[in-house]
Amino acid sequence: KKMTGAEIREAFLSFYESKGHTRLPSSSLVPEDPTVLLTIAGMLQFKPVFLGQAPRKVATATTTQKCVRTNDIGNVGVTARHHTFFEMLGNFSFGDYFKEQAIKWAWELSTGVFGLPAERVWVSVYEEDAEAEAIWRDVVGVAPERIKRMGAADNFWSSGPTGPCGPCSELYYDFHPERGTQDASLEDDSRFIEFYNLVFMQLNRKPDGSLEPLAAKNIDTGMGLERMAQILQGVSNNYETDLIFPIVAKAAAIAGVDYASAQPAVKTALKVIGDHTRAVTYMLSDGVTPSNTGRGYVLRRLLRRVVMKGRLLGIREVFTPAVAEVAVALSAACDPAVQRNAQRIYDELAREESLFATTLERGQKQLDEYLDRAAAGGKAIAGPDAFMLYDTFGFPLELTQELAEARGVDVDVSGFEAEMEAQRQRSKDSRETLDLTAQAGLAALAAAVGPTAFTGYSATRGAGRVR
Ligand code: ATP
Ligand code: MG
Ligand code: MG
Ligand code: MG
Repeated sequence: KKMTGAEIREAFLSFYESKGHTRLPSSSLVPEDPTVLLTIAGMLQFKPVFLGQAPRKVATATTTQKCVRTNDIGNVGVTARHHTFFEMLGNFSFGDYFKEQAIKWAWELSTGVFGLPAERVWVSVYEEDAEAEAIWRDVVGVAPERIKRMGAADNFWSSGPTGPCGPCSELYYDFHPERGTQDASLEDDSRFIEFYNLVFMQLNRKPDGSLEPLAAKNIDTGMGLERMAQILQGVSNNYETDLIFPIVAKAAAIAGVDYASAQPAVKTALKVIGDHTRAVTYMLSDGVTPSNTGRGYVLRRLLRRVVMKGRLLGIREVFTPAVAEVAVALSAACDPAVQRNAQRIYDELAREESLFATTLERGQKQLDEYLDRAAAGGKAIAGPDAFMLYDTFGFPLELTQELAEARGVDVDVSGFEAEMEAQRQRSKDSRETLDLTAQAGLAALAAAVGPTAFTGYSATRGAGRVR
């Protein structure tokens, strides 16, 4: 019998509990760490401990962490394995066990608990980490031809130019062992999928660039829950696992299309709707609200992409709350707070979606004119026109591009960027003059009520842009 997503999550966490780890909750998608907008990995909530800035509360821990990675937006629905929102399972050692133990447990979990055939698991090691290579080969018994050395770009972790860092070792699953071991490349994603990353935090990089061994060595790992589900459920991509497919199927039902027999572009649109709706559901639950800056803008962009894809599938009515209902129904084991916040999530989605729909309708008329003109002249949409759609109607460039592409028309991106730059320059000039007066006003205000009362900059910044 195939393991469900919920069973996979539970198996991981209880495996590490049986090895003495404390099961801790996921932290919020809104990180305490100021260096990232959203939580991108399981280690983030432990970063102060790893950096030696906070004492450890436990020696070892295991979590399933909600993550959002905006760098993967372009991969959603395109590769089989990338999401914006996903769950990262992890086991962590804060100066407790180290490399050999971490490798042995990763192997026991993968081949024992999850039952992956040993000959289908490949591993990568950092090219200078002979120790890890020897452990995989001599202690675990992985065949040397299935151990690949990789460079620093893929297999060396650091959180900045100085501080703790170290080599990684990753586990890959081979979907096509019949292709043999000759010339196999782990980067070939028609054959391999990376599912587990082990980071050996063993070095400290000093300001002069030199490396010294860390006194307390740490382990930081991450396994993509959806990827393990893809492997164990024998489906061809993460979206067809029980963790996500019901959301995709709901979108298909609303659009009135059959997922299984749909064209690739339609499938991609449905996957984007499923992925992004899941992401915005969790982000709203964690208190992010749509805005034109920071993580609020990430949320807004994701939701607008959902609406756009919906339009391209012929959906006209407000539909994201109905899709989100399925995401909420699937959320309990990952994050029980989502169900408690459900009504607020639906209300925010409906409001933001209607707002965007109004924007779209107004802009669409203008866009249609540009499109007719461009198509008739065999030309692209001019930079100033794309900028006009952005500035006046709130059309992000990607939206204009996507709608134009559907009609086989290009957009002059560099022309658009030139207009953007010109506007930036104009607002910089006006801000400099404004600053002088604001400064005087601020001084008076500070004297009267204290500096925290002044919100003029943030309150006026987005003015003039359609929300
Ligand atoms: P890839 O090379 O496939 O983009 P990565 O090397 O960027 O993955 P890591 O930073 O090592 O990923 O994260 C640890 C694990 O989290 C990965 O091995 C994978 O299982 C999972 N993971 C990472 N990014 C995603 C994503 N966008 N969607 C789903 N799972 C992910
Ligand atoms: Mg990646
Ligand atoms: Mg990788
Ligand atoms: Mg990796």
